[in-house]
Amino acid sequence: MVIDALRNIKRVLNNKVYLEAYSSTRLSMTMRLSYSTVLCVCWPVVLHVAAQHARPPPIYPFDLASSAVQSPIHDSTLERQLTRIGDVTWASLRGMKQTSPSRELAEMACDILDDVFPGRVYTARDAQYQNEVEFNWSKTAWLQSACIIRPANAVEVAIAMRVIKVSGTRFAIRSGGHNPNAGFASVDGSGILLDLKNLDMINLGRDDILRVGSGQTWERVYHFVQEKEKSVIGGRHGSVGVAGLLLGGGLSFFPSLYGMAIDNVINFEVVLSNSSIVNANSAENPDLYKVLKGGGANFGIVTRFDLETHPRINAQYTVNAYDASDYANILRATARLQEAMEKDNKIGFFLNVVSGFMVAGLLYAEHSDAPPRAFDEFFKLQSLVAPVVPTTNGTVLDLVPILDSVGTTDLPVRRALNAVSTKVDYKLYLKVHESYNELLGSGHGTGNISYTIQAIPSSVVHAGRRHGRNVLGLDSRPQSWWACLIEWFEESATDIAHKRVSGLGDTVRSAARETNNLLRFTFMNDAGASQTVMDNYGPDNRNFLKHTAEKYDPEGVFQKQQNSGFLLG
Ligand SMILES: Cc1cc2nc3c(=O)[nH]c(=O)nc-3n(C[C@H](O)[C@H](O)[C@H](O)COP(=O)(O)OP(=O)(O)OC[C@H]3O[C@@H](n4cnc5c(N)ncnc54)[C@H](O)[C@@H]3O)c2cc1C
Repeated sequence: MVIDALRNIKRVLNNKVYLEAYSSTRLSMTMRLSYSTVLCVCWPVVLHVAAQHARPPPIYPFDLASSAVQSPIHDSTLERQLTRIGDVTWASLRGMKQTSPSRELAEMACDILDDVFPGRVYTARDAQYQNEVEFNWSKTAWLQSACIIRPANAVEVAIAMRVIKVSGTRFAIRSGGHNPNAGFASVDGSGILLDLKNLDMINLGRDDILRVGSGQTWERVYHFVQEKEKSVIGGRHGSVGVAGLLLGGGLSFFPSLYGMAIDNVINFEVVLSNSSIVNANSAENPDLYKVLKGGGANFGIVTRFDLETHPRINAQYTVNAYDASDYANILRATARLQEAMEKDNKIGFFLNVVSGFMVAGLLYAEHSDAPPRAFDEFFKLQSLVAPVVPTTNGTVLDLVPILDSVGTTDLPVRRALNAVSTKVDYKLYLKVHESYNELLGSGHGTGNISYTIQAIPSSVVHAGRRHGRNVLGLDSRPQSWWACLIEWFEESATDIAHKRVSGLGDTVRSAARETNNLLRFTFMNDAGASQTVMDNYGPDNRNFLKHTAEKYDPEGVFQKQQNSGFLLG
């Protein structure tokens, strides 16, 4: 017992630690002590705490309740690092969890992590901190967390996870930072932001599988694979994160070809709440594999995605701007093109609608001298103002910067979204657009409000089934995924902006309901924070998600400690 206590004290001296000094009632003041204070003043306290916690619960090997989780990846660095933190520190954190306010707890967890990852934990005292806060795409997500940690690999994520779990601190996970919902990839001073930018490995194996760290963005990924004459299925904007996009399903330029981006993931490397690092694929942890295909941040922190590669996709693209007063003809052409997509899986299409203009992306997954006949109706429209991008034979990589400039501004603004999915129906489109015009004309305008019709062919659903199924619960039919977006400057306009964008979403929903065109599905990647997403995957998928979350995270760390997100609850 005494030897154990002395060992613990040695660990204390090797670390800067925080100890809770217990009074006789165990609920007295909390003391924050540095190395020298411990050495000079507090030997009795150290001895007391060390003796009390000489045999703490095991930190490693892992304490996973369910033996059904297969093959955790054991790593000696993880073991060494966790041991280095010291049992007394763990014990102190556990004690503080009971008594300390959340901000204090978060700051203490940050200090411990600063010891483990020197130079990669940013607090408000660091010059780089504000840049890190402002990394998120939308100003709504610029929250001042207690600290921002940049782990460099899965083992470091596992260590951070352990400190977070033991301390009970709130946390958020950020990869590309493009989700505009406040608190999803951001957290205020009561929590820690785990920023995964440094997980930026990228490697094409001899097996033709692309292994990509969660910190990568799509532009860099497309660059890498194009040089190898390959393609992968991912996002349409370069700076969007690989991780967030995939975990929400992932809509690509040509969904008819290979389905949703998530259907092309062969394996996930995941850090679970108990700091195990596991693989999830069709053979290992297949239930986890399935729920990660659309189930978001409910199960663990994904540190690597292994993606199926395909032969390089040659893209022909035209982006045309039309005068929106011709909306009836433009929307008719839209519905007809969506019908054509059912017969030609090389077509990709979107229609972005802003005040005064409609911008059509006419995409084809093959080079040719002229655009395919399916686009004729769009080329003949009298309302064509100008080609934003004339017909070009290029690649997916060329297309990404073009799309980056369509529909949103680069300025640091606040943003909010609302997602709806409907059947393809010209009359519905007319009705929605007329309501949108009324909204614009109502004179209560705050910010720029727009919507995009994203064309989803029925082959997307079939591709998901071919690839071993996802959890999205999509209807097997051609459909439109509506993304309603508002962008505004002033913080004071936040409430009204949220009301306007959810009002536009409600308009689409009620028009679709009235005409029997509403679909249950809500696309996570375009959804506003107040929308329910996974309830709309259908009861079987919802139950499976919940059951699997409980299996892999029995204490509900991702449900209770994660700051926000589309959580199962
Ligand atoms: C300009 C723009 C273009 C877009 N284009 C597309 C598109 O073409 N197709 C499409 O499908 N979507 C698109 N989106 C939506 C985008 O996919 C989502 O906003 C997505 O959440 C962003 O991912 P991220 O990694 O950048 O986000 P983040 O904001 O970092 O994360 C989003 C969510 O995922 C969680 N998360 C992030 N990393 C991990 C991880 N490693 N493990 C577990 N959870 C994690 C976060 O906690 C958060 O809840 C676009 C968004 C923008 C702003």
